[in-house]
Amino acid sequence: MYDLIILGGGPAGQAAAVYAIGKQINFLMIYKALGGRVGEKIMVRSEEDVSVGHILVHFESVDPVEKEDRLVGTEAVHLFESQVMSQKGHILKDQVTSVNHKDGIFEVGTERNGVQKSRALIIATGGREQPLNIPGEELLVRGLGYQSATHAEKLAGKTAAVIGVTERALHGVAELAQTTRHAYLITPEPVKPTVPIVQALRQRPDVEILEGYEVKEARGSTHVEQLIVVKQGETRQLDVDAAFVAHALIPHSDLVKHLVETDPDGFIKINERNGTSLPGLYAAGEVTTAFGREVLIAIGEGARAALSAHDYLLAQPVTK
Ligand SMILES: Cc1cc2nc3c(=O)[nH]c(=O)nc-3n(C[C@H](O)[C@H](O)[C@H](O)COP(=O)(O)OP(=O)(O)OC[C@H]3O[C@@H](n4cnc5c(N)ncnc54)[C@H](O)[C@@H]3O)c2cc1C
Repeated sequence: MYDLIILGGGPAGQAAAVYAIGKQINFLMIYKALGGRVGEKIMVRSEEDVSVGHILVHFESVDPVEKEDRLVGTEAVHLFESQVMSQKGHILKDQVTSVNHKDGIFEVGTERNGVQKSRALIIATGGREQPLNIPGEELLVRGLGYQSATHAEKLAGKTAAVIGVTERALHGVAELAQTTRHAYLITPEPVKPTVPIVQALRQRPDVEILEGYEVKEARGSTHVEQLIVVKQGETRQLDVDAAFVAHALIPHSDLVKHLVETDPDGFIKINERNGTSLPGLYAAGEVTTAFGREVLIAIGEGARAALSAHDYLLAQPVTK
């Protein structure tokens, strides 16, 4: 049995593992894809890699210079990777299929390596975005809000569209509008007037908020040139130079939903120590309710979750 199992090998899981190495905790990190979302980006470095993932391919359609991969925190995740991968016997590449808690022990079911047990658990399984499922979706950029300042610079004097109603979408369109000639915010749902940035957006003549519109198609050759949007049977064709999807994330929290409290969207509720409603179970990164969905934040959270798990383990009765 391990003292600690870490679910996930993204920035949060790896930071937790590095912390566990430092504290000499007997841990196991189980992951499907090393690097998590950052791994996907790193893999898509060259044109030949196009089929491996999609994120940078989309950036290429805006500007090939983006191939350089400017993701802040990538270097840290690389360093963590080499440290974590050297820990033979502490890493397992497998899919976790179940998590149970019996008599104070966590039982983690895996696809190929049976059930692994531990006294404490960190869940850092991240999330995924909802696809639009429209023709031409591959022409759209994902991940606006993390790099909107870079995009804003490149789209100076041009027309851009942001699809979504998340806070990231609202902030993204506001940042883009600082340089674009015209910016659209397209959302099938009404924009909540309580979000302060909405008032500022509504007052801008160069920002058009298309509420109640659904995007039906993206058209273009190497990058998006037109968006087809529909509201109650009325179709509009928008000429754009770039379009960004900033939809809400779907957290990978199903494994522990029966054990811990989640918010209505499924994000795991955590306290200021990354503890969940179940003692011994900690959560970090994008799967949680914590504010800020960025690599550097996930790294900090992973480290804090490991620190808390360590404290928890120290307070448990000694079993020699
Ligand atoms: C399109 C896009 C662009 C982004 N751009 C930026 C950016 O420019 N800058 C920035 O700072 N952030 C950016 N982000 C956000 C950043 O990638 C995330 O904040 C960060 O990766 C979250 O780390 P995490 O460890 O919580 O989750 P993830 O990176 O998602 O890692 C989750 C880990 O859990 C594993 N996992 C999940 N389920 C299971 C299972 N059942 N069994 C085993 N393993 C499992 C996965 O394999 C993976 O290892 C972007 C995100 C997206 C989606």
